[in-house]
Amino acid sequence: KIDHAMRQALPAGHFRLAYQPQVDIRTQAVVAAEALLRWRDPDLGDVSPAQFIPVAEESGFIVALGDWVLTEAVRQAAVWQSQGQPLQVSVNVSALQFQQATFVERVAGALESAGLAPELLELELTETILIQDAEEALTRLRLLERLGVRLAIDDFGTGYSSLGYLKRFPIGKLKIDRSFISGLPADESDAGIVRAVVSMARALHLKVIAEGVETDLQRQFLAAAGCDQYQGYLFAPAVDPERFAALRAGCSPDAQPCSAGV
Ligand code: C2E
Ligand code: MG
Ligand code: MG
Repeated sequence: KIDHAMRQALPAGHFRLAYQPQVDIRTQAVVAAEALLRWRDPDLGDVSPAQFIPVAEESGFIVALGDWVLTEAVRQAAVWQSQGQPLQVSVNVSALQFQQATFVERVAGALESAGLAPELLELELTETILIQDAEEALTRLRLLERLGVRLAIDDFGTGYSSLGYLKRFPIGKLKIDRSFISGLPADESDAGIVRAVVSMARALHLKVIAEGVETDLQRQFLAAAGCDQYQGYLFAPAVDPERFAALRAGCSPDAQPCSAGV
């Protein structure tokens, strides 16, 4: 039922993107945005990505859906760029989408038709994508690197990892999964894991962002551990582009730190 509804929802324009700020942990400046897919269906109401993305991955519809997300996020980033407010936008990429023979061409095509500077696009890949067919993945990542787009590993620490690929692959950023953040600062295992990931990332010259930061105590712990950026309800949830622009305007590096719930 969900798969059928999704296939109708895409041409009907019922999908949209919301943008969640990624924030410098020390200055509280908004430095990037993650594009997150939203679906409001006339019959089903709001359907969560946690529910429909797995269905789309299983049926293969994620290829068409992911293509739409890429085009739309690049278009929005180009609008911000043309307004003199350039901001890096991150797009989530599914395994099946990444494995398409034409994936790199599609990325290049989206950048070109929107006129977006490639470094303003970041692709979020999961550990699973990278180890599935490591040689093929490496070839593809190098092509993307040559295009000038940025690459990040999403949900870091939850998949099957090979630390070797962090060394070999042209990855710029690790996103520490929210499951390791929620217990901070009290949970000693989470604290240990987070400190270890941050120091490993530093040694490898990778940037680190913490996902799902909800409290100021978590943010303080992460700042002390040397984490670069954070993303989470403490600063803001994912919001529509208009609200995002307002959020940015009120949250310049010189302004007071923003509060939650915007
Ligand atoms: P993700 O890429 O790890 O995205 C982060 C998720 O955490 C988002 O959920 C976001 O709304 C949520 N989140 C952010 N801050 C907080 C917080 O402080 N606390 C809590 N509890 N949650 C927070 P969302 O939007 O429901 O997306 C869930 C997942 O669906 C994403 O996880 C991603 O894997 C997938 N997804 C979303 N949009 C796309 C897309 O366009 N393409 C693909 N392939 N996957 C997508
Ligand atoms: Mg993500
Ligand atoms: Mg994540």
